[in-house]
Amino acid sequence: MSALIVTALGVGWFMARRALSGVEAVTRTARKISDTDLGQRVPIMARHEEIDRLAVTFNQMLDRIEKLVAGIREMGDNIAHDLKSPVARIRGMAEMSLAAGPYDNCEDDALAASTIEECDRLLEMINTMLMISKTDAGVSETHMQPVNIADVARAAKTLFVPLAEDGGLTLTCTAPDTVLVSGDLRLLQRAMANLVDNAIKYTPAPGTIEISVDHDKTNKEKVNISVKDSGIGIGADDLPNIFNRFFRCDQSRATNGSGLGLSLVQAVAQAHGGCVDVVSEPGRGSLFTLHLSGLPEIQTNPGD
Ligand code: ADP
Repeated sequence: MSALIVTALGVGWFMARRALSGVEAVTRTARKISDTDLGQRVPIMARHEEIDRLAVTFNQMLDRIEKLVAGIREMGDNIAHDLKSPVARIRGMAEMSLAAGPYDNCEDDALAASTIEECDRLLEMINTMLMISKTDAGVSETHMQPVNIADVARAAKTLFVPLAEDGGLTLTCTAPDTVLVSGDLRLLQRAMANLVDNAIKYTPAPGTIEISVDHDKTNKEKVNISVKDSGIGIGADDLPNIFNRFFRCDQSRATNGSGLGLSLVQAVAQAHGGCVDVVSEPGRGSLFTLHLSGLPEIQTNPGD
């Protein structure tokens, strides 16, 4: 009798495990889905009818969501693309009007000048949106080359020192001579510039900004590029949103910006097989780190 109970319990446990493994597969897939990877699907095991039906329905729902998201992105790109020409035309007209001046009423000159400024801001936003979409789609192999990211960091320092000093900030850069990554130079420069520009924008004087590049301490094949500031910091509620397009923390609305800079940084990191993370404390500052895969240094003979 007891053998029968033990066998029944064993069979019951086995059946329950089998049924639950299908549910676990659905849960695992749902967890893996992120806004940049909607391509995951639940494997169909053909073992348990109910669970397989659930998996098929789940996969069909993912197909529809993937199509919807692709449609929304395409519409955004088309709108951005179609807006470029009219904005450029408005800018041209304002420029012609400014060149035809000076007018008796100097308000007309100021109006034309501010129209040009606003058009430039809009064009910059449109171009950044298009750049993010293009980068999200991946970096073309033809643009990939060995890049000394330490040089990119030093160049960013040189470029931004005057702006930092104007704002009463000290900008430093610590990097070895050579740290190689495989990447698109223009995109990496842009990501670096966005991080340093933000650090300057969101750090009141007197403050410090430290750029640093190094190999990861635990995994020498990885490279960390970080920008640390002693600025206003970011609240815990805002942190999960700062890489979303057009998101701006309430405290930064008085500062110029579009909310697209960090989305581009994230798109660049992911297109290079890396990621970007942030540690921040309101009132104390932020540390943004780009994690990329390094390339082995090219050995050259001293005689070469
Ligand atoms: P923006 O053009 O507004 O700077 P970003 O996408 O670069 O857009 O940044 C999104 C938001 O994240 C910013 O509006 C700001 O609120 C916050 N942020 C980014 N970098 C920093 C920083 N270094 N210190 C404090 N807040 C930051």
